[in-house]
Amino acid sequence: MKEILYKSTRSDGAPILASRAILMGLAEDGGLFVPTQIPALDRSLSDLAKMDYRGVAYEVMKLMLTDFTEEELKGCIANAYGSNFDTESIVPLHRADGAYFLELFHGPTIAFKDMALQILPHLMTTSAKKNHEDKEIVILTATSGDTGKAAMAGFADVEGTRIMVFYPKDGVSSIQERQMLTQKGGNTRVVGIRGNFDDAQNAVKEIFGDSALRAEMAQKGFAFSSANSINIGRLVPQIVYYVFAYTRLLKEGVISDGDKVNFVVPTGNFGNILAAYYAAKMGLPVGKLVCASNSNKVLYDFFTTGTYDKNREFILTSSPSMDILISSNLERLIYHISGNSAEKTAALMQDLREKGAYAITEEMRGGLDLFAGGYATEEETAGAIRRVYEKDSYVIDPHTAVAADVYDKYRAQTGDGTPAVIASTASPFKFENSVMQALGEPSDLPDLELADRLSEKAGVPVPEAVNVLRTAPVRHNIVCDRDKMKDEVRRFLGI
Ligand SMILES: *Cc1c(COP(=O)(O)O)cnc(C)c1O
Repeated sequence: MKEILYKSTRSDGAPILASRAILMGLAEDGGLFVPTQIPALDRSLSDLAKMDYRGVAYEVMKLMLTDFTEEELKGCIANAYGSNFDTESIVPLHRADGAYFLELFHGPTIAFKDMALQILPHLMTTSAKKNHEDKEIVILTATSGDTGKAAMAGFADVEGTRIMVFYPKDGVSSIQERQMLTQKGGNTRVVGIRGNFDDAQNAVKEIFGDSALRAEMAQKGFAFSSANSINIGRLVPQIVYYVFAYTRLLKEGVISDGDKVNFVVPTGNFGNILAAYYAAKMGLPVGKLVCASNSNKVLYDFFTTGTYDKNREFILTSSPSMDILISSNLERLIYHISGNSAEKTAALMQDLREKGAYAITEEMRGGLDLFAGGYATEEETAGAIRRVYEKDSYVIDPHTAVAADVYDKYRAQTGDGTPAVIASTASPFKFENSVMQALGEPSDLPDLELADRLSEKAGVPVPEAVNVLRTAPVRHNIVCDRDKMKDEVRRFLGI
């Protein structure tokens, strides 16, 4: 099999093995790791249609993580996608509203982040062994709400690791905060910051880039890594479910082998939809990738004008995991559409740092033809929750509703009738206040009572992840200013 190596989006140093890139998280120059070439699927889609999720996961991931042995990779997959999911199929497809909702929220924290974060700790500890890394791995993560909990659920009590999560104190849902503050595991720490997600993410990036701190930590036996979607160990497992969804539609006779499928993805940091882009580049027959934004519509503007401009008001919405003005993973797409030019990418990222904006060339815009962009206002998002419920008695969460609304408008504007899969990224129970409000129900109730009412309305049981919150004690209570985050890291490590 062809060896796939990884290099930075910002410079042309010697490429490294996948396991090394997973351990490092971010390249030393601040760039993101990208594959030097994108491998093609080497099993037919009809063959893949006969496999279960774990089987498809192996066939896809083996192509990107070529320095993992079959035994290692299959071991990681078996540990990640099993009884920790509440459904045998791992990611069921639900037909509603003229599309297929790919339910990516059946893992332990009921959001799609579990798809990657249930496997990342196994990929990381395997990578550490392969590279004879004997330092304790310190995972530092900024979260807009879902990543933090999912990362902690994955890493809790994993030997040789510690995990620290920063979240915007006033920027996550009540259930999300409760899920994080009750996190178990002697190796976990949660800190609320006075600021928004971008503040948290920027500070984490700065801490990663602090070479003096890195050296001091190394001396004391610690090595940083990242569980944010900038890590290729998160990106690669996300490619799997696009291939899987396609093969389920094939298996059910909705499409024939080779037919195109559109994917609609509610987008924040651009990780989820970038995985769909890689799936397409690996040969999955994709029509359009519809990038759905909430009112923080930086990406919509980028796709329609070719200019990325974060100089705007940051808006808190009912889909907080998409309240992001710097979509980190877009850098990888920029790199690919620039003809894999680290020089061009680095220059644009410098513009972003210095001016908060950059514009791509007409030629680069040509590389975006797979994408369509759309956005949903708060009213439209609530409207989509109501519409899908009234039409098909199916309750969706606000993130998924952003995608449902954008798809509805996309279909009306373009007449594109290609079968569409909507990435359903969170359980409605995670955002029950907004959901109940949208449905015209009382929403000003204690979290768990609201969950019971939503359960009745939706006709689905309260997920176990919510049920446990009824009795789980709060274990974390630190809040700090963003300029004190590094001090908190030092305190956590005892250095
Ligand atoms: C993280 C998240 C998103 C955004 O995904 P990106 O990979 O950051 O684009 C959308 N919905 C939910 C529920 C999420 O947790």
